[in-house]
Amino acid sequence: MTTLALRSARTSTPRRTAARPVRGGALVYRFDQLPEVRKRCGSWDAVKALLGGKGANLADMTRLGLPVPPGFTLTTEACRAFLRTGSWPRGLWDEEVAALEQLERRTGKRFGSRSNPLLVSCRSGAKFSMPGMMDTVLNIGLNADTVEGLAALTGDPRFAWDAYRRLIQMYGTVVLGVGDEPFEQVLAEWRTRRNVENDADLGADDLRTVAGLFRGIVRERSGREFPDEPREQLRLATEAVFRSWQGKRAQDYRRAAGIPDDLGTAVNIVAMVFGNMGADSATGVATTRNVSTGENELEGDYLINAQGEDVVAGIRATHPIARLSEEMPQAFLELQRIARLLERHHREVQDIEFTVERGVLWMLQTRDAKRTARAAVRIAVDLARERLITREEAVLRVTPEHVDFFLHPQFDPEAMRAARGEGRLLASGLNVSPGAAVGQLAFDADTAERWANEEKKPVVMIRAETKPDDVHGMLASRGILTSRGGRTSHAALVARQFGKPAVVGVMALEVDPERRQATIKRSAVVLREGDWVSLDGTTGEVFLGRLETVQPSLEDPALIQLLAWADRLRRLGVWANADYPRDAERARALGAEGIGLCRTEHMFFESERLPLVQRLILSRSEEERREVLARLLPMQRADFEGLFRAMDGQPVTIRLIDPPLHEFLPAHDALLREVTELETLQELRSETTPSQATALESKRTMLGAVERLREMNPMLGLRGVRLGIHMPGLVQMQVRAIFEAACTCAEEGVEVFPKIMIPLVTTGNELRWEQQALEAEARKVMTERRRRIRYQFGTMIEIPRAALTADEIAGLAQFFSFGTNDLTQTTFGISRDDAETGFLTEYLTQGILPENPFDHLDEGGVGKLMEMAVRLGRKTRPGLEVGICGEHGGDPKSIAFCHRLGLDYVSCSPYRVPVARLAAAHAALRERKRRSR
Ligand code: PEP
Ligand code: MG
Repeated sequence: MTTLALRSARTSTPRRTAARPVRGGALVYRFDQLPEVRKRCGSWDAVKALLGGKGANLADMTRLGLPVPPGFTLTTEACRAFLRTGSWPRGLWDEEVAALEQLERRTGKRFGSRSNPLLVSCRSGAKFSMPGMMDTVLNIGLNADTVEGLAALTGDPRFAWDAYRRLIQMYGTVVLGVGDEPFEQVLAEWRTRRNVENDADLGADDLRTVAGLFRGIVRERSGREFPDEPREQLRLATEAVFRSWQGKRAQDYRRAAGIPDDLGTAVNIVAMVFGNMGADSATGVATTRNVSTGENELEGDYLINAQGEDVVAGIRATHPIARLSEEMPQAFLELQRIARLLERHHREVQDIEFTVERGVLWMLQTRDAKRTARAAVRIAVDLARERLITREEAVLRVTPEHVDFFLHPQFDPEAMRAARGEGRLLASGLNVSPGAAVGQLAFDADTAERWANEEKKPVVMIRAETKPDDVHGMLASRGILTSRGGRTSHAALVARQFGKPAVVGVMALEVDPERRQATIKRSAVVLREGDWVSLDGTTGEVFLGRLETVQPSLEDPALIQLLAWADRLRRLGVWANADYPRDAERARALGAEGIGLCRTEHMFFESERLPLVQRLILSRSEEERREVLARLLPMQRADFEGLFRAMDGQPVTIRLIDPPLHEFLPAHDALLREVTELETLQELRSETTPSQATALESKRTMLGAVERLREMNPMLGLRGVRLGIHMPGLVQMQVRAIFEAACTCAEEGVEVFPKIMIPLVTTGNELRWEQQALEAEARKVMTERRRRIRYQFGTMIEIPRAALTADEIAGLAQFFSFGTNDLTQTTFGISRDDAETGFLTEYLTQGILPENPFDHLDEGGVGKLMEMAVRLGRKTRPGLEVGICGEHGGDPKSIAFCHRLGLDYVSCSPYRVPVARLAAAHAALRERKRRSR
């Protein structure tokens, strides 16, 4: 019988059978043929590519002597060949049949035998885990005949008929494409008829009838008879699993997870073991550590007397794994032992599936566990401390996205307290994926996707439970909310992987997708589509309405440790773009080693300063200009003093005013409208009050100035160094303010290092003109104050001509900083203000451009100019310091490129600094790896 026969398989050592010898190109491998596969493939990575992750790990567990039911794998190569032609590649079916016959010999059972039937599962398994995205068929081999045999053999007709109806149902949905609803409807009717809550409470006779009805559904809906012949079942199930690689949900998932489309899936045929053979049987899933917090404890769920999908579907309330130690102490101890062994073997936290069949533990799967960002960081640090991995590996295992999580908003605890007090806490569920999400409820995946992508609404998708078909909606949503499901449910796994806050298993919630509303049990609350909710994936709470969010603390000890290790590995410096002392302080606390860009014009937009700047622009006399500049000087000086104090001991790069002057004046069209209105009023009334007359006069003056300064292409106009040359007083004042502030701070004992940066330089002459004048002003201040300050003058490289003539420019500039926002704009000849909302989107969707060059540095074009500028610059001035301060300085991919170019530092916004520290370490480690190859 099933259990005994498999027991003998479990204890026997894998033997070389008389199977046909494995040649280079076998399409099917038994689990005990791993040595042959390794020989053929070379690396473990290639083994995984050929057998899929699941198949490779099942074979590996078999090699380790762990209790794996016997089985075999049809390779990904077989899948690719099948998908290419839509038919079975030559020899594949023969190989599958041969492996099946060996499985029969191994288990002592026969496929299709009434007296001792072999049943198998047919499971997908690609190189990279795609949980639930492809298909599986269980209990293959059952038919009207063998089901009776199984019932007699196990003495449990209820179990046998349940297994049979499951096969017909799965077969109908997976192989024949019949929807799940008619099957579920029949089950629901029978539950009502018998007045029971669970399918597990339906009797053998009920299930026999249900199986008959299911066969009828298959016949009616697909026009085909459910196949009784087990080999036909196997053949069609194998084909269906191959085809599921091309299914929409698998494609959506691959796109989101960056998995190539041409890998194909392997198919694993495994002898069935049953967790639904009574009270001494169970099935469950577990992770070797807590994948929400990273704590070192076995975590998971199981169900007594159930089959695998019952646990994941969340239809029955699962038990926490710790309880298994009471209910099945022997199996629990063995599970713990195997979990530890697998973790050490893989040097990574594992996600395992197991079944206990009549007291005997079987391992059905192991794979690297998906985890939350917080857990990822803690696990990496712990594994390194346990010496299972090196510190370098720990740093590489944490992604920039993981670090980014710590920088994402969480709910303000005060706002949560207040919301609870106001009775806005709707319900609680399982806190399966942390973070705060605020959005409007969408009741299905298509709506969620449409609202989020087309209507740009923040969405929270609400479902009873999610299925793989819902992934596109989940990806588009800010958060996910379900009434059913556990920690290992589909919703939880997918949400965690993509960092979406999620609360699942909210038992008090009743979701009615038909009426597009949800109710909260024992309350009058009705949630309708479009209503706002706030869900906290960290606590599992769901609130009505919108809650305030706050940034999370970066004080996580594991994160601090990991970033400290990253700092020791990286070569690139990480500086910050900060305009105000409070930003500088934050950046420094986050690990910035200097300020790479202070955009001084931002200081001019403050309310008490803007009128002064406008007066400066409008002024007609030198005297008035001097007066305004004298009033601006102390303000700028105070700004710089604040920055120098915050960055004591570190460089502060101050970029002189850059934007065209019209940006400081009111918009032309609005101003014109106001002037016209005032003029019309004057004409109509024939008399105006003195205040109206003054208003009109000043607006006319302003309009005149705006029209004078108006440019057709302001981005290519009077800005950057050109403005400094055109209007020297303003930048001269800035330089005076910088050096006066530096002297004052130095007198206080602050270590100052100002770096004055001249923007938008195109020619060497231009820079000479400007820099000489400004250095003269700097020297003047130092003489006045009798103090020498360490300083540098440098330039931004943000125009192609500057990059092309970098050797000349470096004759003067003591440092370069790439302004890649402008350099991208000017290299592509596209407007950074308009392109992304216009044709650039079209280019991206049509694949004319592979990625947005404002997001990731265009290595082939902009990158070439950068490479040239670095080379030419350092030819003239060996050791020239070069950094980057465009938005790309915070983008991990661009950071890796900057590392390869040999830049000295990247500069990014304060909240990107920790991400950049990690990305810079990754770049250094990858380079080391490349070199050692
Ligand atoms: C740049 O152009 O990359 C840059 C940093 O300057 P801004 O964005 O201020 O033009
Ligand atoms: Mg710029």
